[in-house]
Amino acid sequence: MALIVQKYGGTSVGSPERIKNVAQRIAKYKAQGHQIVVVVSAMSGETNRLIALAKEIQSNPDPRELDVVISTGEQVTIGLLAMALKDLGLPAKSYTGSQVKILTNSAFTKARIVSIDEENMRNDLDNGDILIVAGFQGMDEAGNITTLGRGGSDTTGVAIAAALNADECQIYTDVDGVYTTDPRVVPEARRLKTITFEEMLEMASLGSKVLQIRSVEFAGKYKVKLRVLSSFEEEGEGTLITFEDNDKMEQAIISGIAFNRDEAKITVLGVPDKPGIAYQVLGPVADANIDVDMIIQNVGVDGTTDFSFTVHRNEFAKAMDLLKNQVQQHIGARAVVGDDKTAKVSVVGVGMRSHVGIASKMFRTLAEEGINIQMISTSEIKISVVIDEKYLELAVRVLHKAFDLEQEDA
Ligand code: ASP
Ligand code: MG
Repeated sequence: MALIVQKYGGTSVGSPERIKNVAQRIAKYKAQGHQIVVVVSAMSGETNRLIALAKEIQSNPDPRELDVVISTGEQVTIGLLAMALKDLGLPAKSYTGSQVKILTNSAFTKARIVSIDEENMRNDLDNGDILIVAGFQGMDEAGNITTLGRGGSDTTGVAIAAALNADECQIYTDVDGVYTTDPRVVPEARRLKTITFEEMLEMASLGSKVLQIRSVEFAGKYKVKLRVLSSFEEEGEGTLITFEDNDKMEQAIISGIAFNRDEAKITVLGVPDKPGIAYQVLGPVADANIDVDMIIQNVGVDGTTDFSFTVHRNEFAKAMDLLKNQVQQHIGARAVVGDDKTAKVSVVGVGMRSHVGIASKMFRTLAEEGINIQMISTSEIKISVVIDEKYLELAVRVLHKAFDLEQEDA
C-alpha cells in the first residue's frame, strides 16, 4: 500500500464526462489498496473566464477580491469529483485550501505556501476516505483567501505530497510526459522516461510549460518523487523526475531543447566603463518590478562599454521608456536600442558537466543554417542563445536533430 497524491489539470477535468473518467482512474488505484489524495485544477477555461469577468467590473481588479473570485473554479471541481466518486460507491471528501488548511503569505494572486496542516487529512485517510483538495488556493494568517499564481495547482499537489511524505506525486495532464522539445514544433520529439530534477527546473524556467516552476522547486526542496502522466491514456509510465543523475549521464548528454518566444532585448550603448554602472542601469529596472533575464556586458574599449539584457516582451515598452527617459542622460550613455522580436533557445542536459564541445556543436549547427546568435548565456547544465524570432522553429528543429534527440534512450 502506498500513499499517492494525484493532481489533475484543467483539461483532465474539463467536462462532466472527463470528471467521471478521472473518478474511474482514481477508483482503480483505490482498488489496489492505496491511500489517495487528489488535487484538482478548475475546469479548463474557467480561471480565464473568471479573470475576464472580474476585469469587466474593475479594469485592474483588487487583488484580494480577485482571489475570492478566481479561487471558486477549483471549489466547483472538488465538489463535482467527490460526487462522481460517491456515485461509484467510494468514500470521498472534498476540501478547499482553507479547510485543509494550506497556510500562505498574504501576497494575493501569487501567494507562497507557508505550511500545511496535515492532521485532518491523515485522519480521513486512515478512515479510508479519498481526499479531494482544491489546487491553487490557500488562506493567509488573517483568514483571507489567497491563490498561488497561474498553474498553481501543480504546486498544491507537490506541497501536499511533501507534507504527507507521499510515496509518489503524479501530475496528470493532457500530454503523456515531458518531451525532448515541444512536439508541435518538432514532430519527432520524444517522451523522456526520466529527467533529472535539475534539468526539469531548467526546462520549466526556460519555457517548457508542462509544470509550474514553483512546483519543481518545491519537489526539489522536499525530495518529492514526481511523475508526469497523461490522464487520457490507460497505460503509460509518463516521465519520472529523478534526483540522481549518475545513470543519466551514460545515456544522453542533452535531454531537451527549451524555447521561449517572449524575450525582448535591450542594449545601452556607450556606457562609461566605471564602477556602479551595472547597478545604475539595472537598479531602476528592478525598482520598476521588471524581471531581467540574460545580462551581458562587453569588455570596455576607450573607457566605454555596451550593456545588453533581456526582459519579457510585455515589459519591453516600459523598460525602454524608463531607460531612455531616466537612465541614459543620467549615466551619460550614448543610446538605448532594443528589439522585441527575439526568442531564446536553450539546450539542457546534466551530461554537459562531463562532456566538452556541446557549445561549439550548438553554435556550428546554428551557423550552418545562417542563424545569427545575438546573445549567449550558460550555466553548468544549459546553454541559451537569443536569436531573431523568425528563426526560432528552424533553430529548435536543427538542434533537436544535431543532438540526436529523436533517438531512443540507450
Ligand atoms: N486554475 C488555475 C489556473 O488556471 C490553477 C491551475 O490550473 O493550476 O492557472
Ligand atoms: Mg497546469
